[in-house]
Amino acid sequence: MSTTDPLLGSTFRERANEQLANAFLRVAVPKATDHAVATLRNRYRDHDYDGLRELGREIRERAVGDLDRYLDELIAAFERNGITVHRAPDAAAAREIIRGICREEGARTVVKVKSMATEEIRLNPALEADGITITETDLGEYVVQLDDDRPSHLIAPIIHKTKAEVRASLSRVAGRELPDDAAELTAFARGELRDAFMDADVGISGANFGVAETGTIVLVTNEGNGRMCTSLPRVHIALMGIERIIPRLEDLAVMLPLIAGAGTGQLITTYVNMISGPRRDAEPDGPERMHVVMLDNGRRSLLGTRYQEALHCIRCGACQNVCPVYRQVGGHAYGWVYGGPIGAVLTPLFRGQKDGGELPQASSLCGSCDDICPVKIPLHHLLLNLRHDRTAAGEVPRHERIAATLWSYAWSSPIGYRLSARLGRLGIGLLGRRPAAPRWTGPLAHWTQGRALPRPARRPWHRRVR
Ligand code: SF4
Repeated sequence: MSTTDPLLGSTFRERANEQLANAFLRVAVPKATDHAVATLRNRYRDHDYDGLRELGREIRERAVGDLDRYLDELIAAFERNGITVHRAPDAAAAREIIRGICREEGARTVVKVKSMATEEIRLNPALEADGITITETDLGEYVVQLDDDRPSHLIAPIIHKTKAEVRASLSRVAGRELPDDAAELTAFARGELRDAFMDADVGISGANFGVAETGTIVLVTNEGNGRMCTSLPRVHIALMGIERIIPRLEDLAVMLPLIAGAGTGQLITTYVNMISGPRRDAEPDGPERMHVVMLDNGRRSLLGTRYQEALHCIRCGACQNVCPVYRQVGGHAYGWVYGGPIGAVLTPLFRGQKDGGELPQASSLCGSCDDICPVKIPLHHLLLNLRHDRTAAGEVPRHERIAATLWSYAWSSPIGYRLSARLGRLGIGLLGRRPAAPRWTGPLAHWTQGRALPRPARRPWHRRVR
């Protein structure tokens, strides 16, 4: 994995333009995300999915609203279960804690379960610098690692890759041309990963949920790699964002179907691992030692602010699936770890206005993300608030500020609205007389770069209604 931070040195527009030139991505991403959304809708056609979402929202609100209390409860329960708990205020501290554990254990090989938190702290380059061999064990993440690439979707990391590309990557490892058959390619990767599991000194995972009541880490996967990573190596380290807490074990009855349904349309993922400590005396397998690293990295600073609800996110990827911007440009355009609507919210909050402030502009504010989010995060309101913050910070170009002020002034009264609409009609009408589909030029050219300017109706809607 590259050690450079992808956010630095490029703008969203530059990254998006690069992705828009990828014809495969623009077909494959909408196709895959449409499939996930259709499966979800079919699955819950005859059920009260909205009621389930409301229960999920309540659970997340309760957990995040009383975070310190539940964190104390969770940490006490972890320690009762024989788990060593570490607190990491930021990414650097988390990396150092994990490096320290690996050093103490004399670890040379590590296997990893897919974890966005480990991407967030850029763990792999830090461990590699210590001479440790890391193997990503989720199939998609494995291919990402082989290609020195980055995941482009929260739960489908290689949504941007063709089968031919995957085949070429695996063939490189095999040292021969592998057949063009998905089952055979998977079987080959499976064989490679088996060896890595058997040899690993340490297994590293994230945590989909941490149950405060019982001190349990919950992992959901569809490939079984989570179970292998957390039971075969002699040490297990889980990196958990402090907000991924749920109060009670029974809350899983709501959260498990929500995360599976929103992510892939499943009722429940193929594997659900509930890990409550290292191996006990009578148990035949499991790690000898278990550590949990509790990651803050900007999360606590959102408590009590108008962005607190961003902490309710369970990283299911559903908002990416329906976002008209994400579906065209994919995850890499967002520059950091999290793409799509939740990425456009989290990146400026975690990285600051300077690095991620432009991302909330990458939204049509259509609200599809709000409608699908399994825990009802009001994403488009958060995006609007972030736009306000950006304006207040003076980060918006002068011409945009002047245009928005004039627009707001004109549309604040019926007469201003009618006059501006008439002028707009006149202007578009003049452009529309051109033989080709009209396109704007100058500073407004971006609006019509990828689409034709519509011709105005012969009789405006208002007049027809009247
Ligand atoms: S914001 Fe909602 S839909 Fe998007 S990843 Fe988080 S939980 Fe899923």
